[in-house]
Amino acid sequence: MLTRTGIAVSPGVAISPAMLFGSQEFRIPQRFVSVDAVDSEVSRFQASVATVSDALGENERVAREQLGDQYAAIFSAHRMMLRDPKLNGEIETLIRSKCFSPEFAASRVLRNYAKTLQNLGNAYLAERAADVFDLEKRLLKTLLGEQRPELSHLAEPVVVLAHNLTPGETANLNRDFVKGFATEAGGHTSHTAILAGALEIPAVVGIGKFLADVSAGDVVIIDGNRGEVIIDPDEATIAQYQDFLKQRESESERLAALNTIEARTNDNVRIQVLGNIEFPQEVTQCAKRGADGIGLYRTEFLYLGSDHEPTEEEHYDAYCRVIEEMGDHPVVIRTLDLGADKIPGDIEEFRTKADNPALGLRSIRLSLRHLEQFKTQLRAILRAAVHGHIRIMFPLVTTLLELRRARMILADVIEDLEEEKAEFRREIPVGMMVEVPAAALLAHNFAREVDFFSIGTNDLIQYTMAVDRAEPSVASLYRAGDPSILRLIQMVIDAGRVEGIPVTVCGQMSSDPKFVPLLIGLGIRNVSVTPIAVPEVKDVVRNFSVEDAEQIAKHALSLDVARDVENYLRTELNRLCPDRISGSPDT
Ligand code: PEP
Ligand code: MG
Repeated sequence: MLTRTGIAVSPGVAISPAMLFGSQEFRIPQRFVSVDAVDSEVSRFQASVATVSDALGENERVAREQLGDQYAAIFSAHRMMLRDPKLNGEIETLIRSKCFSPEFAASRVLRNYAKTLQNLGNAYLAERAADVFDLEKRLLKTLLGEQRPELSHLAEPVVVLAHNLTPGETANLNRDFVKGFATEAGGHTSHTAILAGALEIPAVVGIGKFLADVSAGDVVIIDGNRGEVIIDPDEATIAQYQDFLKQRESESERLAALNTIEARTNDNVRIQVLGNIEFPQEVTQCAKRGADGIGLYRTEFLYLGSDHEPTEEEHYDAYCRVIEEMGDHPVVIRTLDLGADKIPGDIEEFRTKADNPALGLRSIRLSLRHLEQFKTQLRAILRAAVHGHIRIMFPLVTTLLELRRARMILADVIEDLEEEKAEFRREIPVGMMVEVPAAALLAHNFAREVDFFSIGTNDLIQYTMAVDRAEPSVASLYRAGDPSILRLIQMVIDAGRVEGIPVTVCGQMSSDPKFVPLLIGLGIRNVSVTPIAVPEVKDVVRNFSVEDAEQIAKHALSLDVARDVENYLRTELNRLCPDRISGSPDT
């Protein structure tokens, strides 16, 4: 049993056999064979070794002819390794004595070799591990008849382990079979992480190198609360996690009772709990869980998996679908927030090649450079607004001139629609994300020119702490509890109160129960959270009064280190809600 720690990005626990996706992308369909089949399986293995050996021989010949002996030697070394009697003996022994399938036995033995080479502390030998992986890949390819299973064509439950998953790959995960995923790369609020939350798949990212320690088919536990991946867990650990899953199930049933109940503090102050969505389908979960509306619709996800610019009708249809399900509730549509970690893979003109994309041409800056696309989206929003309570929100606003420019474009679009006598709503609330420190510092000025604020803590933390939100090596600095973040949030809330506009918090911070009393104590009355967190946030809210929350906020503001703030908030949450079942089993 081996435990690796990463960044917890989507809550929940999954226990399933591992599927390795990416460079060693082979799912071993069967781990065991029947005793009667052992002889024929050993023969199948030997035949595969012969096939791979022939292929390597051919590579060696071609390399010698075209490149010379030096290069041919690479393949002859691979062939010698493949033919090594000790290695073959070990694999055959596992097939005979443990009835392992040849795929599983070969993968296990070769991965053990690779691991040993990596751990010898010698750089040259560590690099040879790559040769062993290559052999494994060739053998598996032959044994499996070249079939590389697609993530979208799974037939049994797995946890997906990969170096990295792109947002597109994550979006295509089949929830019926992918029970969880873990990646070596990735950070807190990268869009892959946000998507995992959207799909409600437990996930841990930013683990660092660990794939060499796993074979396809090994049982793996993904603990998306604690940020742990447990490879080959022992019986006791599996039993403990299974018990925990049962407890969570009964906790979910208890929380389900809150679906039809409004969130009110115990002194009866109404708190709006809205949902954040990336895809129109997610609105169903929000409605089912009794969200008070959609506080953030990340429309850039319309680009995911698409090879063309969304048309006005595509925008319009997506928005109508969301409004239709939300009925009378408000829906905040954020205009495209493309760029940085949200780059559509297939659409060249939006790809930014800057060294620092998070500080570059992204989000509203990009929309203001691509006026046709921006106007297309605004037209669709205004037309869809006829059917419900839509609000427009501009992302990453940094200066007042930028905001005024965006509003001018909106006014142009209104004029165009009027001229065309199109059916649309003219009066529509216009707000902005406060997610750049510059906007937080000038919140009073901005508040006079918008109808609402929504604090995007994901980017606000990134830009305040100078920490790339997707970079695991500096993830420990990325903390919502940092006193600087608390101060900025407080400034924005104060500006909203003085200027008379509502303020929501829509960054991931508001989905974390320990921050909920703090935010309410600072004056927040609207939070927009990941859909899975709606019941939990409602539940937490019911356990304290505004006065309790204000005391907590006051004390939190007196602390000067993020760790102390977060520990304090954790303790307070446990005190206020002693019966909450959350997190992971105690191991
Ligand atoms: C944020 O930055 O907090 C936010 C909600 O927007 P996104 O995560 O989509 O950048
Ligand atoms: Mg943001």
